[in-house]
Amino acid sequence: MAKKTIRDAQVKDKRCFVRVDFNVPMKEGRITDDSRIRAALPTIEHLISHGAKVILASHLGRPKGKVVPELRLDPVALRLGELLGRKVVKLSDCVGPEVGAYVSGMSPGSVVLLENVRFYPGEEKNDPDFARDMASLADIFVNDAFGAAHRAHASTAGIAAYIPAYAGFLMEKEVAALGKLMENPERPFTAVIGGAKVSDKLAVLKNLLDRVDNLLIGGGMANTFLLAQGHSVGKSLAEPSMVEEAREILEKASKGGTKVLLPVDVVVAAAPEAGMPAKVVDVQGIPEDMMALDIGPATRKAYVAVVGESKTVFWNGPMGVFEVEPFRGGTLEMAAALAGVRGFTVVGGGDSLSAVEMSGLSDKIDHLSTGGGASLEFLEGRELPGVSVLLDKN
Ligand code: ADP
Ligand code: MG
Repeated sequence: MAKKTIRDAQVKDKRCFVRVDFNVPMKEGRITDDSRIRAALPTIEHLISHGAKVILASHLGRPKGKVVPELRLDPVALRLGELLGRKVVKLSDCVGPEVGAYVSGMSPGSVVLLENVRFYPGEEKNDPDFARDMASLADIFVNDAFGAAHRAHASTAGIAAYIPAYAGFLMEKEVAALGKLMENPERPFTAVIGGAKVSDKLAVLKNLLDRVDNLLIGGGMANTFLLAQGHSVGKSLAEPSMVEEAREILEKASKGGTKVLLPVDVVVAAAPEAGMPAKVVDVQGIPEDMMALDIGPATRKAYVAVVGESKTVFWNGPMGVFEVEPFRGGTLEMAAALAGVRGFTVVGGGDSLSAVEMSGLSDKIDHLSTGGGASLEFLEGRELPGVSVLLDKN
């Protein structure tokens, strides 16, 4: 269902509590990738230019309800200030009288960043008192943290019980793009699923099975499907405990008319390390002492052909150990295939996004989902708490 966004809200002179996902990767106190901060800029800039008082809140890392000095949000406030070209005040708490006093003195168009909300145990417990304390700081709630929307926490869901809740632009964009895959995708609709393990992606595989025309399976998880087909996979990463599930997926697909493609050849080596001698073998001939680390050329050709004929493509999970040079060919060819699709393409997943970035083709993909876990849960067909609490558009 469509949700109200900040375009539908009266924000002038209003205190807006904006939940963002500033859970950025850090190394020795420095931000190593600021794309999550950049992703929230359209919402923040809209609120500033419409005269709102912008109160930003986020989590960072896993402090587990205690103050962890290394997980304070000061470096984030600094970087955000640089990106916005204006001062971003950082407070050392996220609730309490001092925060309240600061916030009531804010002028329209100013921006403040609260402290890491996960310093309080009430955040992950979705404690109503903590949610109410945060809500008391503001007139409206804006949720732009799609990456945290699958969690029912105080600052992503609980707070909406006390003040009206609107989607920010990143939230709106994610829900629209992923929603397009779930409702009325243009056909043929192809899902490309790879990555390490079947067990990580079982729910999404099952839900997509009924919705797609083609399901292409690669990466480490393909090995479990190869086991289900009766092949030996040598020393490859595989999950024998998931073989039965894999077999059921293949059976269900053939009954439902969904075309499932599995690798017919793979790149094998003794270990996923650079400089290892690698070779291509058919899936019938994976040597006992070797690991399948990428899809082979015949498989790539078949997959690329299916993707090329598709009107909608969703891709999650690399086709091989793309971090290591001799095993990234299948993943890079898949990125190129998606880039060439004349239709709607979505890529989700942390490693998959790095792979697309590596290919240099990011701008040829229609939607790069920043959500990770949230995108997968959305495609599992689950309702995300951080989305369902938002006001309906009606
Ligand atoms: P994403 O983060 O995009 O959701 P995953 O985390 O599920 O993707 O999977 C990515 C990981 O899967 C990568 O680290 C990659 O090295 C690994 N992987 C892909 N193919 C294989 C394989 N054949 N054997 C072992 N690991 C693999
Ligand atoms: Mg990953």
